Amino acid sequence: MVSRKEKSTSRGDELSLVDQAYEAIKEKVIALHFLPGQYLNEAAICAQLNIGRTPVHQALQRLHLEGLIEVLPRKGIIVQPDSLAEIIKILEARLTVEPELARNCAINVKTGELSSDDVTQLLAIATATDANVDPPDIPAFTSNDRWFHREIGRMSGNSMMGDFGRMLHERSTRFWYLNLWQTIDVPKSNEQHLLIAQAIAAGDDQAAGDAMADHIRALHERLDHLQAQAPKLGRFPHIGG
Ligand SMILES: [Zn+2]
Repeated sequence: MVSRKEKSTSRGDELSLVDQAYEAIKEKVIALHFLPGQYLNEAAICAQLNIGRTPVHQALQRLHLEGLIEVLPRKGIIVQPDSLAEIIKILEARLTVEPELARNCAINVKTGELSSDDVTQLLAIATATDANVDPPDIPAFTSNDRWFHREIGRMSGNSMMGDFGRMLHERSTRFWYLNLWQTIDVPKSNEQHLLIAQAIAAGDDQAAGDAMADHIRALHERLDHLQAQAPKLGRFPHIGG
């Protein structure tokens, strides 16, 4: 199928189509419309998104580099089936990157590089998920959690490290969505996010880094607990390896 849009000669339009395809496919992977281990058909994705072959192909290459999908020579495209062990490695990487991002945000507040609007917004996102809904609204929770961590990456002023943190977070979020949705504790998570946001707002880099490390360690502990039970549970549903 050749999309009308693909014939565009404007480089700006081409870039935005790649971005559109990238965001749309990534959402489908994270929100599990495309399941781990599932083969993807490039032509079917083009038809679904109504976006041409070239931008979809480039978007898939980008997702491959970010580790969300795998492109297997002569076999096709497969949604990355992360194992529990891989997710633990990702969390360990987050533990080195995200406290540093939070520290940078607090320093940027202290030096006046961040506006009070940025800080007010971060405080609002921290508790944006309604803690009184039972059972918790998982799509709202995961989207606000991604927004919160992405904002900290942006506000850190280091786009390189911010992007790295975002990729790690997107990959681990999917696992949470898939296996741990029953264990998501919205009140506790809001509380941890608020501590991070308040330390950043106060320009306290030490406290901001510590609060972020505590937040990620709490996730790590839940995974350790899950891993201890893994021999009994066998393979996780939809998870390879
Ligand atoms: Zn979080």
